[in-house]
Amino acid sequence: MNFRKLGLVFLTIALCVGIVILMQVRTERTEEIIMPGAKDGKTTVVKRDTLPDPNVTPEPVDDGVVWPDLTLNEMLEAENRQYAIVNDKNLLSAAFQPECDKITGTRAQLFEKSALPYLEAMLQDLRDHGFTPYVASGYRTYSFQEILFNGKASQIAAGMDPPVTDYLDPRYQEAVAVARTITAYPGSSEHQLGLGVDILDRERSWLDYNTMNQDFFAYLDSICASYGFIKRYPSNKLPLTGWDEPYHYRYVGEEAATFIMEHGICYEEFYAHYDPEFSF
Ligand SMILES: [Zn+2]
Repeated sequence: MNFRKLGLVFLTIALCVGIVILMQVRTERTEEIIMPGAKDGKTTVVKRDTLPDPNVTPEPVDDGVVWPDLTLNEMLEAENRQYAIVNDKNLLSAAFQPECDKITGTRAQLFEKSALPYLEAMLQDLRDHGFTPYVASGYRTYSFQEILFNGKASQIAAGMDPPVTDYLDPRYQEAVAVARTITAYPGSSEHQLGLGVDILDRERSWLDYNTMNQDFFAYLDSICASYGFIKRYPSNKLPLTGWDEPYHYRYVGEEAATFIMEHGICYEEFYAHYDPEFSF
């Protein structure tokens, strides 16, 4: 064996060892996590988010439970917009545009003006506890959502066999139907409401929840209600909300948020309690 071959063998071995070490480090980071800010520095094992349950039904909340004192009429008032339900069946008009301001610490992300101080305080809380939150998306206009949606539908259509490029082709509507399960249809996104926000850990900001920093979300889930936010699309509620987006938080006000997070219900379940006509 000449030196060149020997060198190549060593290089291969070194590369393999490096990969194994790297994988181990990553596993350790996801399985056993030191909660930054924990006074005793104790190791906390953080649970992963629950998996989607295809048979999930609305959670019965005990009769004895005292729900926030609200009526549907109050929830529908313009000044109580934090209670608005926005989804595939409850669309915002194209003209709806909340008053927004820039979120401090972001380049150009916006959030609804009156709820912005609560979001900023929550982000500061995360920073104070050693995290590096990254606002991936705040307010989005109807037309931006339209661009996102049409882009997704066109991409799906182009991938069909044979590719569909003409929207008059009936198969284009099939692509639209598939796109509706991936990207929010224009008017159905809470980002247009100005009260929905995608928050990631800057260090590990891939949009795959399982590779995200679990202690970041465990901490965020434990504090969000005190700032009036809920985890809006937890994985286990996918059939009720239509989305599995565990990094999306929504401002609903402290009272509703505390109730929702304490009882482990999603916003649709909360809303249905006040609106007997509500359909999932
Ligand atoms: Zn979102």
